[in-house]
Amino acid sequence: AFDSPTHVAVYSQVEDVLYQRRFNLLNDFGEALDSPGQLRLVFQPRVDVANGRCIGAEALLRWCHPLLGAVGPGEFIPIVERSGLAQKTTAWVLDEALRHQRAWRDAGLQLQMSVNVSAANLTEPGFVAGVAAALARHELPADCLELEITESAIMAHPVRAHATLAEIARLGVGLAIDDFGTGYSSLSYLQKMPADVVKIDQSFIRNLESDTRQQALVTAMITLSQDLGHRVVAEGVETAAVLDFLRRAGCEEAQGYLFAAPLEADAFSAYSCPISTSALRVPKLTVPPR
Ligand code: C2E
Ligand code: MG
Ligand code: MG
Ligand code: MG
Repeated sequence: AFDSPTHVAVYSQVEDVLYQRRFNLLNDFGEALDSPGQLRLVFQPRVDVANGRCIGAEALLRWCHPLLGAVGPGEFIPIVERSGLAQKTTAWVLDEALRHQRAWRDAGLQLQMSVNVSAANLTEPGFVAGVAAALARHELPADCLELEITESAIMAHPVRAHATLAEIARLGVGLAIDDFGTGYSSLSYLQKMPADVVKIDQSFIRNLESDTRQQALVTAMITLSQDLGHRVVAEGVETAAVLDFLRRAGCEEAQGYLFAAPLEADAFSAYSCPISTSALRVPKLTVPPR
C-alpha cells in the first residue's frame, strides 16, 4: 500500500531533495543578479504571417549556473516569482533588453522588443515609473517596447493589475496577454483589457495539424480576439502546415521553431526569416467556416 511507512519515508526524501534544490537555486539566483556573466537574454523572432518579415523579438532569460550549468526558466522563474526577487529580476531583464534594443536601433533595425513581466510587478509601487525611466535611460520611444503578462498574473490581483495595465497603456508601451487560453479568466476579462496583442498559448497550436476540434477552438480564439480589437500572435509554430492554417484563419503574427528558436543577440541581428510565408506549398488543413 502507498501509505506504508517506507513509501512515506521515500516520498518525504524526494520532497526534501526538491525543497533543497529550490532553496539553493533561489539563493544562487540572488547572487547571479549581482554578479555579471551568469545571466543573459536570448531573442526569439516574431514574424508577420502575411509576408514572413521579422517584426519583433521576445527577450527570454537564460541562466548559466556556475556549478549546475544551464538551468531553464521553466524551473527558476516560478521560484523567483514566489520570492521577493521578481522586481529585481524584471528590472534587470528590462534594462538588458532595452540596451540591446538601443544597439539594434543604432544599427538600423526597427523592431519591437517584448519583455515578460511577473504578477508581482503589477502590484509593485513605482513599476510603471521604472519602465518609463528605463526607456529614458536608453533614449527609446515607448512604442518600441511591449510587456507580456499572463492571464494568471492579472487574475492574482485583478483590480490593481488592471490599474497598472492602464498606466502602461497610457505611457504608450504595448501590452500582450501571454499564454492566452491557459488561465481561467479569459472571456470576461479579455473584454476589459487594454491589451494590444493576444498570444495564443503553444499548447493550442502544437496539435493543430491532427486535431480538428483544436482547429475550431483556435479559429474561434482568433476571431474573438480580433473582434475585441486585439492583434493575434500564435506561439509555438513548428510546422509549415500549422503556419498555413494560421494564415488562412487570419492570425497576424507567429513565433516558433519553424522560424527560429530563441537566438543569441548577435545571431538575432543577423537573422532573416527562412520561410516565405505567402508562398507555402503544403498540404492544406481545413479552416472551419467563420
Ligand atoms: P513564454 O513567455 O510563453 O515564452 C515562450 C516559450 O516557448 C519560451 O521558452 C520559448 O523558447 C518556447 N518556444 C518558442 N517557440 C517554440 C516552439 O516552436 N516549440 C516549443 N515547444 N517551444 C517554443 P523558455 O525560454 O524556456 O521560457 C519559458 C517561460 O519562462 C516563458 O514562457 C516565460 O513565461 C518564462 N520566462 C522566460 N524569460 C523570462 C523573463 O525574462 N521574465 C519572466 N518573468 N519570465 C520569463
Ligand atoms: Mg512570453
Ligand atoms: Mg507564452
Ligand atoms: Mg509560456
